[in-house]
Amino acid sequence: MKVTEHFNNAQKTLFTFEILPPLKGENMRTLFDHIDPLMEFKPPFIDVTYHREEYVYKQRENGLLEKITTRKRPGTVGICAAIQNYYKVDTVPHLICGGFNREETENALIDLHFLGIDNVLVLRGDCVKNESRFTPEPGGHAYATELIDQVVNMNNGRYLDDEQTFKNSTDFCIGVAGYPEKHSEAPNLKADLRWLKKKIELGADYIVTQMFFDNQKYINFVNLCREEGINVPIIPGLKPLTTKSQLSALPNFFHIDIPCELAEAVEACKDNKEVTQVGVEWAIQQSKGLMEFGVPCLHYYSMGRSGSVRQVAEALF
Ligand SMILES: Cc1cc2nc3c(=O)[nH]c(=O)nc-3n(C[C@H](O)[C@H](O)[C@H](O)COP(=O)(O)OP(=O)(O)OC[C@H]3O[C@@H](n4cnc5c(N)ncnc54)[C@H](O)[C@@H]3O)c2cc1C
Repeated sequence: MKVTEHFNNAQKTLFTFEILPPLKGENMRTLFDHIDPLMEFKPPFIDVTYHREEYVYKQRENGLLEKITTRKRPGTVGICAAIQNYYKVDTVPHLICGGFNREETENALIDLHFLGIDNVLVLRGDCVKNESRFTPEPGGHAYATELIDQVVNMNNGRYLDDEQTFKNSTDFCIGVAGYPEKHSEAPNLKADLRWLKKKIELGADYIVTQMFFDNQKYINFVNLCREEGINVPIIPGLKPLTTKSQLSALPNFFHIDIPCELAEAVEACKDNKEVTQVGVEWAIQQSKGLMEFGVPCLHYYSMGRSGSVRQVAEALF
């Protein structure tokens, strides 16, 4: 079932979360152990992130360095199918431009369609680690807008190599990313919103936000979106803090602010167990505020740890 159908059928705020594929060499049990504790809160769908290749340098016997391509967390498509099969919930695979040409994207979408997966979160993807700017694959897409176009074409029965329109089209519900605190590369929020609007005009059905820790930023963002004529559901993404190091790591990686009150409370903690309690309490209060604001769904970034998300869910769902 499509994510938007879940929103339309919902009687109350939905609980959903995002998981990372296990590291190469781990098995599905590791992942199920992470998902199991969250299933009692009845998520209608689960997002699975996509991780592009990384480059590492290995020293050879002759002393020269060899550049090696490695993928630490492969398996998004297979994992989505396994989760749908095992838990009977919908999945939302993240689909990125980076590392794919158009044909590989088409084949991935055909696989997803045949596996009965009705949703995709369409993203550009981040730069390759240690590179300062995003470089599209030869024959690939430079922006999420272009990838949306390809998915919409397939939804209309138009494939890459044929002029003909096929009856056997896909029917993906398309989610996209939004940034209440602006995407790091956008010159300003208004410019970023212009591209967000374009993503919706091209056929995206809903938006999931980057994590934020101050609800006012989300509310301002939603108001600005509505002023711009972006009228699709905007799902807030939340992350309970669990370690002191996240105080600098999250702003550094995601270009977001952590409010003073939260940062000071975390700094005052004697260990990460205490940080988790502060993070969980903050996420509960944020969630309550967002429920009052009337969000259709709360989306939690589990980032490989379900314990804190479970504590939040226990208090709310
Ligand atoms: C909910 C969520 C889930 C994510 N999941 C993943 C994941 O699984 N894997 C992963 O690698 N990354 C993931 N990311 C990170 C995301 O890939 C990065 O933030 C990436 O840098 C931007 O992706 P995007 O789809 O927002 O890009 P785009 O929408 O393409 O925007 C990128 C930048 O270009 C500008 N822009 C957009 N369209 C155009 C255009 N047509 N012409 C010119 N400028 C344009 C925008 O303003 C923005 O600054 C996720 C992010 C979010 C919020």
